[in-house]
Amino acid sequence: MHAIEVRGLHKRYGDKVAVDDLSLSVELGEIYGILGRNGAGKTTTVEAVAGLRRPDRGEVRVLGLDPRRDRARLRQVLGVQLQESALHSALTVRELMRLHRSFYRDGADPGELIDRMGLTEQRGTRFENLSGGQQQRLNIALALLGKPKAVILDELTTGLDPEARRQMWATVEGMRDQGVTVVLVSHHMEEVERLCDRVALIDAGRLAAVDTPAGLVTRAGLEQVVRFRTATPFDAAILDGVEEARSVRTAGDRVVVTGSGNLLHAVSTALVRSDVAALDTSFERATLEDAFLALTGSPFDGSSDHGSER
Ligand code: ATP
Repeated sequence: MHAIEVRGLHKRYGDKVAVDDLSLSVELGEIYGILGRNGAGKTTTVEAVAGLRRPDRGEVRVLGLDPRRDRARLRQVLGVQLQESALHSALTVRELMRLHRSFYRDGADPGELIDRMGLTEQRGTRFENLSGGQQQRLNIALALLGKPKAVILDELTTGLDPEARRQMWATVEGMRDQGVTVVLVSHHMEEVERLCDRVALIDAGRLAAVDTPAGLVTRAGLEQVVRFRTATPFDAAILDGVEEARSVRTAGDRVVVTGSGNLLHAVSTALVRSDVAALDTSFERATLEDAFLALTGSPFDGSSDHGSER
């Protein structure tokens, strides 16, 4: 059984198709990233997964449950932290945590979670008086309160200071260690690259690609560059058999090799075989952000504008 299975999900708002026959599967225990430009349909998708939006058509299963038919059972196993959450703003951190704890048969200790999220000093502060980052931490704490088997985290670390962000990453990694399935919607490339086992790229409501972060970079087919010097004159013929290399040139005393695949390893191996010692080797490869831009459409093509009926 997949943790989450989405088949042919379709959602339109008026004339605007937000999610266009999207299918994806999330494995049990993986951290699954969802990346896409503003308005690509990420939030609509995860809201449908959480049972908070009714799709026009398509099927969703979360841990075998239908999010709309099995709402009560789903709430016991799925934690959800969304971009905008409607919390009672006059209640304090402690009150909100206790209230939400009462929704679950088997849940976490609110006090322990408040400490873990760095909200100990704010226990008695009303939600409306928390800073943006503190509200965000509380939202995450609320998502974890029911000891969920799967969690959806939409913009996990937006607004968090660097220390809190790193703590949040450690919390997510800890959840994976405990076998919790995590769906992470994020615009933070370092976060996605570091945490996610696989990433879905969503473009204008459709699935553009699913792969590991490194796999997406490879798929984008972007050039890699290896630069080095040699102590003795360099004979470019040494690299003739290296399939990964597309071009070899010299720039001053440097040799510059561009290519793709496992370029660094292939070049190093060829040099060692010919007994050539490379000095000052450097390696540049495309980042996940480069791959994201290469694999999704232009941001200004009019396909990802935001409507106002939200
Ligand atoms: P972001 O990265 O900006 O959060 P997203 O990928 O989460 O974007 P969605 O919020 O799912 O995108 O929106 C997808 C499309 O559907 C956008 O064009 C948006 O304007 C539109 N949309 C979303 N919610 C509504 C709504 N309630 N009424 C009308 N249009 C909507």
